[in-house]
Amino acid sequence: MIQRPLRLAILKGDGIGPEVVESAVEVLRKDAKKNLLPLELIYLPIGFQAYNSVGRSLPPSTIEQMKKCDGWILGPLSSGTYPKDDPDYPMASGKIRKAFDLFANLRPIRSIRSKDHQKIDLIIVRENTEDFYPDRNLYKGYGEFWPDENTVLSLRVVTRKACRRIAETAFKIAQSRGEKNLVTAVHKANVLIEGDGLFLEEVRRVAKEYQQIELQEGLVDSVAMHLVMSPEKFDVLVTTNMFGDILSDVAAGTVGGLGLAPSLNSGENYAMAQAVHGSAPDIAGKGIANPSAEILSTSLLLQWLYSRIGDESIHQTALDIEGVTMNVLNSEDNDQFTQDLGGRATTKEFTLKILRHLEK
Ligand code: ATP
Repeated sequence: MIQRPLRLAILKGDGIGPEVVESAVEVLRKDAKKNLLPLELIYLPIGFQAYNSVGRSLPPSTIEQMKKCDGWILGPLSSGTYPKDDPDYPMASGKIRKAFDLFANLRPIRSIRSKDHQKIDLIIVRENTEDFYPDRNLYKGYGEFWPDENTVLSLRVVTRKACRRIAETAFKIAQSRGEKNLVTAVHKANVLIEGDGLFLEEVRRVAKEYQQIELQEGLVDSVAMHLVMSPEKFDVLVTTNMFGDILSDVAAGTVGGLGLAPSLNSGENYAMAQAVHGSAPDIAGKGIANPSAEILSTSLLLQWLYSRIGDESIHQTALDIEGVTMNVLNSEDNDQFTQDLGGRATTKEFTLKILRHLEK
């Protein structure tokens, strides 16, 4: 048994963040208790809550506290809405990914209530620290420029190191899944000849070390179409930052939407649970958000922690949370779902359903 409490930082975020994070925490607390996993949960300010009280969306004290935790559960942060006087403009989550070198963004997508032959079970392995994202492309400053009043230049960064380690992550995941033993490298090397050329070069190099895994290569536009038409054919997709961001929303759409799409941001030393979706301002505060993505992200974090710490109670809690959430989502009773899935349940009612199943 683990000798000390597992220390997790809880960062609620904006919009529906507090609602879905609180659900995830309730589920986590309940199952950890059942499995005798001691927890220490530390709530830290981030996003508009932090900006409104201390004038910045990612206070240095939050970063310092995060360093002392085993892992972090982050709610969504509003994109493109922070005031320009925020020192952490445009968004704290990009800053966290870069500061802690969370280079791999793992985004599994699984279908619910599907017939066997239509079963979607894929994972997008997205590079997380560079590419077209101007907030993480420069040591100082911002990677978009106005050389004159009618022109914008956007900087894209692709490094050999980042391509190599994301490829290694993808192949390791394909091997451990033991599903289709297939990695699809998604690129646009016919246009982005140098950057995506480098990405492909590294993926091919890593593929040689995994003879039992098939490497497939696909242009991002064509993969986007195949993801819509036959998502069940994919296993592990590896790609650069922006393509991964877009494709994971496409893939989420094939299984019922963003409310079902979890993600883990991970590096060598740290990992952070964070649902794929944003702060969903259109439904914030209404109590109707689907918390599944944040709950499943918490399970991903626990699986990562188990791979580092190796305690069985962490493993069991990860498995319970994932298993019970998927069971509830696979039930035939429409009414118990949240509105995004065609049901009538509130966030709290849906969470209660999961909590009751955990008792069984
Ligand atoms: P942001 O500005 O933070 O990116 P957004 O609304 O542009 O927010 P998302 O938050 O990703 O982007 O939401 C896109 C759509 O998906 C919205 O209509 C939103 O209501 C819906 N949505 C996202 N997450 C959930 C969820 N957990 N439950 C239900 N609907 C959701």
